[in-house]
Amino acid sequence: AFSKSLGQNFLIDKNIIDKICDGAEIKESDQIIEIGPGIGTLTQELCKRARKVVAIEIDKNLYPILNNNLSSYDNFYLVEGDVLKIDLNALISDYFDDDGEIKVVANLPYYITTPIIMKLLEEKIRISKIVVMVQKEVALRMTAKPGSKDYGALSIAVRYYSNPRIIVNVPKNVFMPRPNVDSSVIMLDIYEKPIVEVKDEKLLFKIIKAAFSKRRKTLVNALSLGALGIAKEDIISILNECNIDVKTRAENLSLDEFAKITNTILSK
Ligand code: SAM
Repeated sequence: AFSKSLGQNFLIDKNIIDKICDGAEIKESDQIIEIGPGIGTLTQELCKRARKVVAIEIDKNLYPILNNNLSSYDNFYLVEGDVLKIDLNALISDYFDDDGEIKVVANLPYYITTPIIMKLLEEKIRISKIVVMVQKEVALRMTAKPGSKDYGALSIAVRYYSNPRIIVNVPKNVFMPRPNVDSSVIMLDIYEKPIVEVKDEKLLFKIIKAAFSKRRKTLVNALSLGALGIAKEDIISILNECNIDVKTRAENLSLDEFAKITNTILSK
């Protein structure tokens, strides 16, 4: 029995498992965090290729199956719990050696893709790559460029912390049971430092959120109506100072431009 509410669609295609592992460029020295190992199909291949695999799984029913399927690997560790509640920095210092790369590799539970990705990025844990299967639509949003219909707050957040690209699109029939949506494997190459410099990260994301929460309004209106508490005339002069057209909309603004707005507000 599969739990639909836990997003359980298990991979049954060895070819896709290899593509995920090849995409993650797994080396013998790598240490891997897997989120949602399920019955351990991907996990086995990860254990073959990497130094150590720590897999976080929420579903108790799967623990005996997982331990059985991974019993021939001494580099497998099961962490029982909810990935969104686990202190990942503590997990890394408990399980991993200080040398070499740490990568997150997983076929994610789709109902919590965005919160998982944002947790991995925002907590600034010591990882070099995230290589995960996600719903295709989310992969398109994560990799979207300014001006495209998929571009939004998620695209900008992902780009702030990483260089994202789609490795491969994946048909429904490689899963059991078949999901209703198409999938993609995405790779986020994590920067050592965010790609733009802002003096207040929280303010940057507050501005991005305000701008996109009123997507169809001009930036001036979205920002002055939003939770920022800045008067319309001030927003206009800030945008002028940044050389940004006051009639533009959030969907046309790059991360660089959002960073410029943030730093200009902070300089007032
Ligand atoms: N990796 C396996 C595979 O590819 O066959 C299973 C992937 S399945 C799409 C998602 C897995 O995530 C399931 O095993 C599910 O129980 C687990 N899961 C769901 N919510 C979770 C959570 N909050 N924390 C950890 N694991 C979770």
